Parts: sequence; C-alpha cells; structure tokens
Amino acid sequence: MIPIFRFSLIVCAMALIASCAKQSLEQKPSMIAEKINRYAKTNLTGDVSGLSPGDRRALEKIIGAAKLMDRLYLRQEWSGNETLMQKLMEDTSAASREQRELFMIEMGPWSSLDHDSAFIDGVPAKPAHANYYPDDMTKDEFNAWIATLSPPERAQATGFFYTIRRDASGKLKSVSYNEEYRDLLEPAAKLLHEAASLTDDATLKKFLSSRADAFASNSYYESDVAWMDLDSPIDVTIGPYETYMDELFNYKAAFEAFITIRNEEESQKLQKFSAHLQDIENHLPIDPKYRNPKLGASSPIRVVDEVYVGGEASAGVQTAAFNLPNDEKVVKEKGSKRVMLKNVQQAKFTNTLVPISKHAVVTSQQSLIAFEPFFTHILAHELMHGLGPHNILVGGKSTTVRQELKELYSALEEAKADISGLFALQFLIDKGVVEKSTEQQMYTTFLASVFRSVRFGINEAHGKGVAVQFNYLFDEGAFVHDAATGAFSVDFAKVKPAVAKLTGEIMTIQAEGSYEKAKALLTTYGVVRPPMLAVLDNLSDVPVDINPVFALGK
Ligand code: ZN
Repeated sequence: MIPIFRFSLIVCAMALIASCAKQSLEQKPSMIAEKINRYAKTNLTGDVSGLSPGDRRALEKIIGAAKLMDRLYLRQEWSGNETLMQKLMEDTSAASREQRELFMIEMGPWSSLDHDSAFIDGVPAKPAHANYYPDDMTKDEFNAWIATLSPPERAQATGFFYTIRRDASGKLKSVSYNEEYRDLLEPAAKLLHEAASLTDDATLKKFLSSRADAFASNSYYESDVAWMDLDSPIDVTIGPYETYMDELFNYKAAFEAFITIRNEEESQKLQKFSAHLQDIENHLPIDPKYRNPKLGASSPIRVVDEVYVGGEASAGVQTAAFNLPNDEKVVKEKGSKRVMLKNVQQAKFTNTLVPISKHAVVTSQQSLIAFEPFFTHILAHELMHGLGPHNILVGGKSTTVRQELKELYSALEEAKADISGLFALQFLIDKGVVEKSTEQQMYTTFLASVFRSVRFGINEAHGKGVAVQFNYLFDEGAFVHDAATGAFSVDFAKVKPAVAKLTGEIMTIQAEGSYEKAKALLTTYGVVRPPMLAVLDNLSDVPVDINPVFALGK
C-alpha cells in the first residue's frame, strides 16, 4: 500500500495546510492522483539505429498519423469527448491538469479500472453504443430496421466501417467512415502517403499507400492484405480494427495505431511454433467435425518493440500482443498475423506480475514465476485466435462465430485463446517441441497472471474471459486455495485435464454458434468470488498496468 497511499496523504496534508475549507475540493484531485498512479510510468522505445535515413523520416510521419488516431478514437467513443477535452486544455488549474492526465491515460472521462465510472463531474455513464449509433436508438429499433434492408445494405449496417445515423426524417441510415471522419482521415492519409514515399521498404510502402487509399475509399480489404504481407524493420498497424467498444453489437471498429520496430532475433525464434499449428488443430479436444482440416497457409508472427501507440491502443490498460485483421474474409484467404509487443510485455511483467505473485501464489510455488513462460503463453494466446471454429454452419446456414455470439463474442474468444493456449503448449511439451522444464512455470505464471487480468475489471472482454477460466479451473480442483495465507497454488496433476475440458467446452459453444450456451457459461463463471476478491483487495500497492512514455513520440 505504500506508493499510492503515501502520495494521497501528501496531497491531503497540503490541502489542510492551504485551507480547511478547501479540503473537499482537494479530495477529488487526490482520488484522481491515485487513479493515475495505478499506471506505472514506464519509458518505452525501440532500437532505431538500424533504420535507413529514409525510414527514420518515414517514422516521424507515421507517428504523426498515429496521433490523429487519438482524435478519431475520442470522437468514436462519445459525442461529448472533443468538447470536454477542449475544456480541459483551456483550464489551467491543478485539478484540471490532473483530470487531463487521467483523461489521456484512459482516453476518455471514464475509469476503465472502476467499472467505467466517470471521473469528471457532469459526464454521463459510458454509452454502450459509443458514438457509433444515435444516442436515442434501441437494439430493437436497429434489428427491426436491418430486417427491412437488402443483403448489401444489411452488410453495411452491420459492417465494421459504417456508423449509424438518422436521416432528415429520423430514419436510420449507414454512413461510411470516410464520410463520417473525413476531416481527420484526409490529413492521416496525407501523412501516410508522405511516409510511403520516404521509406526504402517495398512492403511498407505498399501498406502505407494502400491504407491511405482505404481512408479515402472506405475499402480496407486491399490494405489488410498488404498488412499481412508487411515485413519491414518498421512495423505499422494503423486504422479501424477492434470492435470491443461497440457494446451493443460488436460490429463497429475503433481507430488505433501501433507503431513499432521489429525485434529480428525473437521473430525468427517464435516463427518455429507456426510449423505445429495444423497438428494442434487436428488434436483440439472437440468433435473432429469441428476441426479445420486445412488452416490458412501462412501465420506470420512479428515480435516488435513499441515506439508509439494511438487511439484505442493507448486507452487504459496496454495491449501486450494482438492478432489481426478481424475481417473473416481476409483471415480465410490470408490467415492472420500476430504482433507481440515485447518491450510492453517485459514492462508489465516487471511492474505488475512479479509483485502480484507475492500475494496470489503460495510461497512454495513463487520460484516458478518467470518471464519466458509468460511471454510464450501470450504468443500461444495469439496463435490460438487463429485456430478453432470461425466460419460455422448454423441450421444449414453459413455464418461466423462473431455474428452469432454478438456482444458475448469477445469475452468468449479471449477465454478461448488463453485456455487453448495452455492446451497447445502442453501438447507441444508432450511432443518435445517445448522444454518440459517450463511446464510447471507455465501453469503457475498463468495462475498469477489471472489476478493481473481480473484487476482490469470483468466488464472488459479479457478480464471476463480470465474470470471464467479461473473459476472453472478452481471448480475442477486445478487451482487450490490455501485458507491460511489466502494464496493459491496449482495442482499439476489436475490442471492438464481441466484445461482440455474447458478448451473443448468453449470451442464447442463457438462451433454451434450457441448464444444461449455462451451466455450461461459467462454468467456462471465470469464473476469474482470471495477468495479471489480477498487477494485482489491486498494488491492496492501494486500498479495495475503501465503508462508508457514514448521518447520518439514527443
Ligand atoms: Zn486475445
């Protein structure tokens, strides 16, 4: 409890000295300071010494475009964000400065670590529909409307890159992103075109220019394909990607950017796992008819160091790895690419996981907490997003897991990636591909990492997914509670079958496209039970995540 609490004591003492009457005014900023301090300020950078002069100049332009993703994202999140940010910028008071700092960490006026509660007076509850749909639209109205549309119109209405607005008569209509966000997408496209002309790398040139074209045309397919082929010292991900913020339907994509430098050595080392993916798919613990007999050809992995993030990627808890694109058509044709943010993972491990394990894991198993298995499991998590059911048949009709499970999709898919990641690594350990000596480290480090994830809140897809796994494994006897210390341990004999069982259960729900079964699983297990809560209550001295400071982003 030291750093956060001590800081708040100092603030309170200062308030008392200044004026007793001001104390209540000072309390709110001190609460905000505590919220800020839950993110350990960490310098992040990459090695740019190997970049050509052209690439270095391109990098500056690309970072400029990434900064525009911040503004795009804020506008997508809430219709009031831009006005509020302007107000915070103009107000020079200390209180406003703190609010602005937290606003920039969270990318909005809601604290993602406090059930999205507003930390600025006068701000409404975070809208589930974000700013993608009209504020007065209901789910029923949307569903009734799309039932009247032609198939291509319906594809737009439920598509990634269209907002829903009302026409002059109040009727719902789809508006393409290039029209809705033209004022910000045009300058972003200009910067990307300039960067494309500066870089020496052909694959980067292709991606940057095609992504710039996509910002103008709203057609992202070609640039998603170019991103799959991107293999450059500067690795760039920029555009509308994840659908988490659309809590109504998971249809609409939020803008973000990850600007990174490739870590050559690690990229090659991890590529070897890709050779075993089909073998893992063929042995998934599900009905063989649900397995994919021919996975997409290439599954590139990039291990990179992050030098700047923008938009959704910079909001709140930082992404440690991701798997894109989300467009099922591109995934089917080209597979998907995994990007591992190694310097982010290392920073999280050091600042959060190691101190958490002191509370969450029994003393006799603490020596098993290690960075290597932590890093490897995140790799496995990303790989497993590409395996298991995606394109499915429901009642004889071709559809996708995403479309069938709607707002439940993300939490279940994240749980799948985690638990089947353990399953896959155990499979590779049993085959001798992965060192047997990492087996116990893997499960124990995963146990500790559960507490790290659940602290993010179980309303968020990753946190909810992790709570499901913890409670399921606990009920199977794989995780054991030590009543004397409140800490947990792994039962190494029980954890293996339990992991396979849950992997099978989740993937079968996905294969069936069963919304009801997904709902039942998430409702039963996606909760924080008392023994877990007791550990979480003891973690107030541990930062929840990192607040990256980018030397190259200044
Ligand atoms: Zn994931």
